[in-house]
Amino acid sequence: MTAALLTPDEIAAIRAQFPILTREINGHPLVYLDSAATAQKPTRVIEAEAAFYRQSNAAVNRGAHTLAGEATELYEDARATVASFLAVDPNEVVFTSHATEAINLVAYALGTASIGFGAGANAAAAPYAIGPGDEIVVTELEHHANLIPWQELAARTGATLRFIPVLDHGGLDLEAAATIIGERTRVLAISHVSNVTGAVTPLEVLVPLARAAGALIVLDACQAAPHLALHPRELDVDIAVFSGHKLYGPTGIGVLYGRAALLNSLPPFLYGGSMITTVTMERAEYLPSPQRFEPGTPRIAQAIGLAEAVRFVTEIGLDRIAATEHALTQRMLDGLARIPGIRVLGVDAPGPHVGLASIVVDDVHAHDAGQVLDEAGIAARVGHHCAQPLHRRFGVTASLRLSLAVHSSADEVDRALEAVASIRPFFGFDERGTA
Ligand code: PMP
Repeated sequence: MTAALLTPDEIAAIRAQFPILTREINGHPLVYLDSAATAQKPTRVIEAEAAFYRQSNAAVNRGAHTLAGEATELYEDARATVASFLAVDPNEVVFTSHATEAINLVAYALGTASIGFGAGANAAAAPYAIGPGDEIVVTELEHHANLIPWQELAARTGATLRFIPVLDHGGLDLEAAATIIGERTRVLAISHVSNVTGAVTPLEVLVPLARAAGALIVLDACQAAPHLALHPRELDVDIAVFSGHKLYGPTGIGVLYGRAALLNSLPPFLYGGSMITTVTMERAEYLPSPQRFEPGTPRIAQAIGLAEAVRFVTEIGLDRIAATEHALTQRMLDGLARIPGIRVLGVDAPGPHVGLASIVVDDVHAHDAGQVLDEAGIAARVGHHCAQPLHRRFGVTASLRLSLAVHSSADEVDRALEAVASIRPFFGFDERGTA
């Protein structure tokens, strides 16, 4: 990490852009440590979305009137902004409702291609067809959004779903990965950063294995996009997805990046208007990406809001955000390590950890621990974070997750640490674990 850290003054100026941070919760200034679930929104994002509705609202693409033209331009500008953020071509950026939809889109399209169903399935999709004997590989730490669509694809096509196990330290078993990913592997679907441990997946190991196997590589970048520069081509992945709402953008917008040739060879996911060249009563011809995957009236205001969020993080600089959050994550992990009766899930996983920590407090259920934090004005997430298999692997059903954002300060981390240290004493447990 070579970029300069954000100074306290710069962080204060960033904080001033988030109106919600002026709220008090239970008599304390809000400490928002739930950005991994959804990020708060700076005023400029809220305004960008509102300005569209106030001034330029119209359906995109069709229509000769001025507002329709303006709306189309704003929407396509938003796509270009996201494309340059990812360093890819605009026609490789498809707007979806969220990352979950983006992954489902890919899994569904691959399934459709596999059974040669529908006019949209064309011969070019054949290399991606999946059938009995083929394998889809995920990891044991995936969010359900990057697990269940693959389970269903395997079930529909007769393929086998395999997974790279998690070791006791919380990192992936890379030796096992080298034997699991092989000539039968058709898809490798993995997260860039775990939403439970915060560990960065060693893509530099896994991607070459999948490439050598000729597999399609799908990256769930939900927990990476707000924290690290995300360049799918450099990472050599075929598909990358993330959600706008975790990147300080609106809800209701997700991004699917895919290599143009790949996207154009896949059949559509949803069918309807705005995606066709010609339609007869019998059949339809489909436009290339991105229109191919954006039927109906798309998420115009949300895309415009997301583009503003992308400009917001780009102006600060993803390298500076990454360096600052890295230092703050370390402060949080060091502080947690000093608190007795606390276990940090996957803290010993090798490599960098980004922006979050999930903890288990001895003798105290995560929901009760979360209540203690809420009393102190601290918003943290409790539960399995849509990663039940990983929690099962760690031998727990739930954890309490603290996640950072660009507006997080050292003071806030210290307040959270103090509150975490108070959890066991609050329930009458001393350091040796007796009530
Ligand atoms: N993958 C990961 C790693 C996530 O953290 C999340 C959100 N918790 C998702 C996928 C799904 O994102 P969304 O709910 O916005 O579709």
